[in-house]
Amino acid sequence: MNNRVSLSPHFRLDEFQCPCCLTVRLQPELLHRLEALRGRWGPVRITSGYRCPSHNREVGGVENSRHMVGAAADVAVAQQRQRSFCLLATEEGFSSVIPYGSRGFVHLAVDL
Ligand SMILES: [Zn+2]
Ligand SMILES: [Zn+2]
Repeated sequence: MNNRVSLSPHFRLDEFQCPCCLTVRLQPELLHRLEALRGRWGPVRITSGYRCPSHNREVGGVENSRHMVGAAADVAVAQQRQRSFCLLATEEGFSSVIPYGSRGFVHLAVDL
């Protein structure tokens, strides 16, 4: 499977694929909001996009994680920049914005 295909000006499909099976699900609204956020923030690196149920269990995700429906992405953000990143993400309409502090990422999700 080859997911190295551009979805939008700044994101490729493989950035959202599950690392264990390379499957991808991605809600268009998540991509649109990430692209808008990227336009204001600058480059962003997705550390976790779609997760199949088994990968979600493996990484300790919650049982009904929005990662499993392609409606959530974790983005690498240094701890000291998470506050401003979260403010911007909230302005861009993500319904869930959760900073993980010293773990170095922010969880972003949209409603289905
Ligand atoms: Zn998988
Ligand atoms: Zn997450």
